[in-house]
Amino acid sequence: MTVRYIESSKLPTPWGIFEMHGFEDGDKEHVVLSMGDIHGDQPLLARIHSECLTGDALFSLRCDCGAQLQAAMHRISVEGRGVIFYLRQEGRGIGLLNKIKAYNLQDQGCDTVEANEKLGFGADMRDYSILKPMIEHLNIGQLKLMTNNPRKIKALQELGVDVVERLAHQPGRNPHNAKYLETKKGKLGHMLENGEDSDS
Ligand SMILES: [Zn+2]
Repeated sequence: MTVRYIESSKLPTPWGIFEMHGFEDGDKEHVVLSMGDIHGDQPLLARIHSECLTGDALFSLRCDCGAQLQAAMHRISVEGRGVIFYLRQEGRGIGLLNKIKAYNLQDQGCDTVEANEKLGFGADMRDYSILKPMIEHLNIGQLKLMTNNPRKIKALQELGVDVVERLAHQPGRNPHNAKYLETKKGKLGHMLENGEDSDS
């Protein structure tokens, strides 16, 4: 697999002006948003965010993705430096239309893991190996990672990415995603505190 750097530009947002770096990975296009000096000696605040069209762009409350993305942009702007890897692996890697099928099964009572399995997918199909060439290209060192997902930290450590700290990151709990978050905690091992918003 070859990941190619294409170009960078500015991206003004409600949280300040980010640099946006574009990468190509086969037929997939990924972006990295950065703010401040990302090459310094101090560990870099980071979020690895997998695309969720419904949550990130359509304001869905079925999950917590949109709130997590916005909170990450906010935290980086407060710190003045940090990075968000925005990976195009929709629906924990099953794609948008399969995610709609999974949502349909959830409307009928399945939880998120059961729905994926009914469709013949693993509970989590995301692949983080594309991160390594991006991190090397951007010359990023140690990360302070905003995540509740121990699998993500393990996958990064296996890739040789230096995660020196985990920062809890759980904004966006609401009545529509309470069951989803409980499933992430119970079946996917996410480190979620009950009913607490760490950053909103
Ligand atoms: Zn989502």
